[in-house]
Amino acid sequence: MTVKSILNLKGGGVTTGDPSMTIAQVCARLAEQKIGALVMTDESRNVVGIISERDVVRVMAQVGAGALSDTAGSHMTKTVITCRKRDTVDEVMEMMTRGRFRHVPVVDDGELVGIISIGDVVKYRMAEVEREAQHLRSYIATA
Ligand code: AMP
Repeated sequence: MTVKSILNLKGGGVTTGDPSMTIAQVCARLAEQKIGALVMTDESRNVVGIISERDVVRVMAQVGAGALSDTAGSHMTKTVITCRKRDTVDEVMEMMTRGRFRHVPVVDDGELVGIISIGDVVKYRMAEVEREAQHLRSYIATA
């Protein structure tokens, strides 16, 4: 299964943010959208960073509540690992495992076209395991 087939099921919507927004605004957006990360883009919608709930927790632990008025740009991860629609879900799982992150934006021809979270990957794997079990059950029943 490819990233494209997951996006066909969940859609290509991505909640983005601007590096000039504050950490307080990042928290509000994450809570409001019930998501774990915001992809940061510039005015041309190029991906320039990512900030996740894990970054917010780190900043609060290291700096404290005073950092709520800092810009997202000063605490986001600037080197973002992305995938393409044609990549396989296994490849994305490998990226997440190797990089120890749970979000991978999808970029095709320089355009942000979706995001895959670890939740999407787990959902895909569960459906796949269920399909395999079903296949085995019908094999045994007809053997
Ligand atoms: P997460 O597990 O997605 O909450 O992110 C854990 C850490 O990895 C945070 O510091 C994020 O900013 C960073 N991160 C999340 N996704 C990516 C990504 N696709 N590429 C690089 N860093 C990421």
